[in-house]
Amino acid sequence: MERLTADLLVVGAGVAGVYAALAAEAKGANVLLLAKDPLPSGSTPWAQGGVAFPLDEEDLEAHLQDTLRAGRGLVEEAVARSILAEAPRHLERLTTMGLPFHPEPTREGGHSRPRVRHLGGDQSGLLLLRGLLTHLQSPVLEGYMAASLLLAQGRVAGVLAISPRGPVEIRAGAVLLATGGFGRLFPVTTNPEGATGDGMALAFHAGGVLRDLEFVQFHPTALPNGALVSEACRGEGALLLNSRGERFMGRYDPLLELAPRDVVARAVHREREATGGVFLDLRPIPHLEARFPTVVASARALGLDPLREPIPVAPAAHYAMGGVKTDLRGYTGLPGLYAAGEVASTGFHGANRLASNSLLEGLVMGERAALAALEDLAFPPKAEALPALALDPHHLPALRVQTEPAGVVRSGEGLRRALAFAEALPLEEVPPLEATRAALEAGHLALLARLLLRLALLREESRGAHFREDFPEEAKEVYHLEAQGPHVRRVPAG
Ligand SMILES: Cc1cc2nc3c(=O)[nH]c(=O)nc-3n(C[C@H](O)[C@H](O)[C@H](O)COP(=O)(O)OP(=O)(O)OC[C@H]3O[C@@H](n4cnc5c(N)ncnc54)[C@H](O)[C@@H]3O)c2cc1C
Repeated sequence: MERLTADLLVVGAGVAGVYAALAAEAKGANVLLLAKDPLPSGSTPWAQGGVAFPLDEEDLEAHLQDTLRAGRGLVEEAVARSILAEAPRHLERLTTMGLPFHPEPTREGGHSRPRVRHLGGDQSGLLLLRGLLTHLQSPVLEGYMAASLLLAQGRVAGVLAISPRGPVEIRAGAVLLATGGFGRLFPVTTNPEGATGDGMALAFHAGGVLRDLEFVQFHPTALPNGALVSEACRGEGALLLNSRGERFMGRYDPLLELAPRDVVARAVHREREATGGVFLDLRPIPHLEARFPTVVASARALGLDPLREPIPVAPAAHYAMGGVKTDLRGYTGLPGLYAAGEVASTGFHGANRLASNSLLEGLVMGERAALAALEDLAFPPKAEALPALALDPHHLPALRVQTEPAGVVRSGEGLRRALAFAEALPLEEVPPLEATRAALEAGHLALLARLLLRLALLREESRGAHFREDFPEEAKEVYHLEAQGPHVRRVPAG
């Protein structure tokens, strides 16, 4: 078997992983990155809207208030304040690196002011990632999938990876997970195929804590195949209409089309059920094709013409607010293991992420986690791989259908049925080198489905992205749910 070593092993090469690697290599560390799909991979290159940066000192407070409001009591204020306070430094650095941010910020849902900086019209994530990659010197092993963590003397000491060229053992002084979210658990999602929650499953399996997993953000406006129609479209004048041609958002929220995402997603869900369909009218946007080239191309690929008529839209699974619990330095509590980006739960997003706060978190926390990891390198002599979690991938289509009760509107009955299905699946521990990529991904999704459904059932209230029609009110008590091993605990927020 091939054997490699590094000071810092970064698993994932989206915004969080690449920015982390840049920070570590600037300190002279020997860094290795893994990306299970060829670059540019992950959700990052799909991001359309941009990155939310506070405009100035005064706006920092307003940006914080918007973040707190969207997160419905579950945003950890000290975490949000510290991430936002650091944001301007990163914008300055990225601009110095030559990233072509548009000078005019745009406004997105839940933001009280225009403060989202985009690149290349709606190609924000792609240009951001490409720009970062041009500065990266460390090698990225493309097509290598971390299948299990290596443990040594109570520390995470590397990973066992599978690749089309065979297995490889990578020993490292510390491991940083930057593997993104798990949108692929749902039948309709904006996420790319590799979004199977690998980092969350690996960390949980090694004893780490997963927090707030029940909070999944559904983007209100995806095309029938999951292709995203950016929220920035509504920020620039696009209107939501039901199949009777009525502009309906006034019945749901005074912020109309720019209400927080969870509110718009539920409104779209209800109007689809009540009237048979919801459409987005993009025609009010000036210079539509130049401003939103990706949106126009995605619609045309489905035979729709947004320049002539409203296009059909529906909610789609979009972003995981929960993930591997970390502190403000990206530390997971498992010696040697750090996490940053969508895989992590820092407490920044609470029950509902504010639009375009996630790329920002990936930058700030990517750098912090890398620097903290470099302070904590250790190279124990002998390491053992944990068994991998696998499921026959033929179960995946049924799992996705059965998990539908964990969608935009949930109920105890539906969640219980879905959980019974997920728990009956033959998820098994196997030697990591015996599993295929497809079986590992299915195994990770099945594990996360079980945990998500368990937490969603336990949360008998509606808050942010988690809406229970049998418990439609917010509870007085504000708490996180944490899963570790067989246990689930309530932890008071704040
Ligand atoms: C369509 C879309 C539009 C969005 N628009 C915006 C926006 O405008 N603004 C915003 O702030 N956010 C947006 N988001 C969310 C944001 O893009 C993501 O949250 C963010 O990019 C996640 O970055 P990341 O670095 O954590 O992970 P990702 O970018 O998802 O990268 C994950 C990386 O990990 C690798 N990987 C995964 N598992 C393994 C494994 N087992 N072994 C090896 N490698 C692995 C992948 O190949 C990939 O390289 C959007 C998301 C989507 C899907």
